[in-house]
Amino acid sequence: MITKISHIGIAVKNLDDAIEMYKKLGLEIESIEEVDSQKVKIAFILIGDVRIELLAPTSDNSPIAKYIEKKGEGIQHLAFAVDDLPAELIKAEGNGLRLIDKVPRKGAHKADIAFLHPKSTKGVLVELCKENH
Ligand code: ZN
Repeated sequence: MITKISHIGIAVKNLDDAIEMYKKLGLEIESIEEVDSQKVKIAFILIGDVRIELLAPTSDNSPIAKYIEKKGEGIQHLAFAVDDLPAELIKAEGNGLRLIDKVPRKGAHKADIAFLHPKSTKGVLVELCKENH
């Protein structure tokens, strides 16, 4: 089952600029890491028990670079925390939702993640996330 909102993914052109902006709101960076498979550099901001995930491309052919090119900077995905990711994927697909990832993959923060296709989720790129921290 979905247990809470895990994080909100925000696409940014430049991670340092974005971090500066969030600092102006008085927020602190929890951690920064690079996910090579997705060609992104990610900064997490923890607010209560929900995170903001700032995603900046590290290459022009990063999926985030392509997203920004098409839609500009802004909210890119919504991640729900789940207790059992494989079971939730079977349930979602069984209920007619389209999966981008049929098999969970590793995301930032050692989480197991899978995306649902926004065409089947009312325009929102939904990530299901089994947090492992
Ligand atoms: Zn995410």
